[in-house]
Amino acid sequence: MNAVYLDNNATTRVDPLVVETMLPFFSEQFGNPSSIHSFGASVGAAVKTARAQLQGLLGAAHDHEIIYTSGGTEADNTAILSALEALPDRNEIVTSKVEHPAVLALCQHLEKIGRAKVHYIGVDALGRIDIEAYRAALSDKVAVVSLMWANNETGTIFPIEGLADLAKEHGALFHTDAVQAVGKVPISLKDSAIDMLSLSGHKLHAPKGIGALYVKRGARFKPLLRGGHQERGRRAGTENTPGVIALGKAAELAALHMADEQTRVKGLRDRLEGALLQRIPNCFVNGDLNDRLPNTCNIAFEYVEGEGILLHLTRAGIAASSGSACTSGSLEPSHVLRAMNIPFTAAHGSIRFSFSRDNVPEDVDRVIDVLPGILEKLRELSPFWSNADKSGKEFKPVYA
Ligand SMILES: *Cc1c(COP(=O)(O)O)cnc(C)c1O
Repeated sequence: MNAVYLDNNATTRVDPLVVETMLPFFSEQFGNPSSIHSFGASVGAAVKTARAQLQGLLGAAHDHEIIYTSGGTEADNTAILSALEALPDRNEIVTSKVEHPAVLALCQHLEKIGRAKVHYIGVDALGRIDIEAYRAALSDKVAVVSLMWANNETGTIFPIEGLADLAKEHGALFHTDAVQAVGKVPISLKDSAIDMLSLSGHKLHAPKGIGALYVKRGARFKPLLRGGHQERGRRAGTENTPGVIALGKAAELAALHMADEQTRVKGLRDRLEGALLQRIPNCFVNGDLNDRLPNTCNIAFEYVEGEGILLHLTRAGIAASSGSACTSGSLEPSHVLRAMNIPFTAAHGSIRFSFSRDNVPEDVDRVIDVLPGILEKLRELSPFWSNADKSGKEFKPVYA
């Protein structure tokens, strides 16, 4: 029986074409792209091609707006720290309560050491940002706004272009963590107000350990790493050339497969969601059904422990997640679902299924086959289930 992998928001399989493209850069093409001899020059040319491929996926105006990093976390940290240094007369950050820890943990640290004041904007029950609170937090004291394009746990998409426009009215730099959006939804940075954008290779079928920070031409920027002149002095350190080449190929493939992601992958996701909602009582979808990544499905199953569901799914050869890899292992429900005010009894039983172009219809069939039985068994053991309201009028998130 083949394993079913439905945890693509945690990481994706490297595409075989990406592996094939990057392999020579471990062997024959080992030169340092900064060297002027022929070993370096051919690698330098390949890096240039890879940069253009990523530029294409982002719809960026110039290829030198891309700074390669070790991944999404480094890109997020670089963007925020750069902004604080580049705008020294401002010391406030505006972000949201549902960001990835790569943003939230840094903001909490900067607050703790007294380096910045941070506004954490809330969301409603569907995970949509509180626009009024956002407007109210903006001022000429804000150095940087950092808001995610799409949420890794629920797939909810923020109206990022409009949010960027508002930040610019106050002269703040605007950064978006687009790690989950790049390759899944169309992006065109050319005419947008977005100053900085983070992405990560391993979320789009490239390897782990490579990512990028887009920095719009003319946007103020201060490097995090100082040393050599790589990346035009904006990120020192010899380039991860196999990673850069891989990310270029992955970007090319992502652009090619984007339509598939929007239709075929979304079709798989919607079929799974529909069948589970129909067959399993007392469950509902977490997130904004009207504005969501096509690959992500987060379902709250009331009166059960998510960890219990995952254990049974694992035994059945199905890999999913109870939200964020960073919060699993602890008994606290995810910070994203808490920010959405999902009731405790439902947040604890929330499971994320995330698809990619690697998934096939049989994957969906397998989950539909086994999950209703797992829920029935677990609920029989749950002391809360016997007293639960099973009228079908269970909690449904609505916009307040
Ligand atoms: C995975 C992820 C990151 C971190 O990226 P790494 O490359 O693993 O450091 C940041 N933000 C979001 C939204 C993510 O999903």
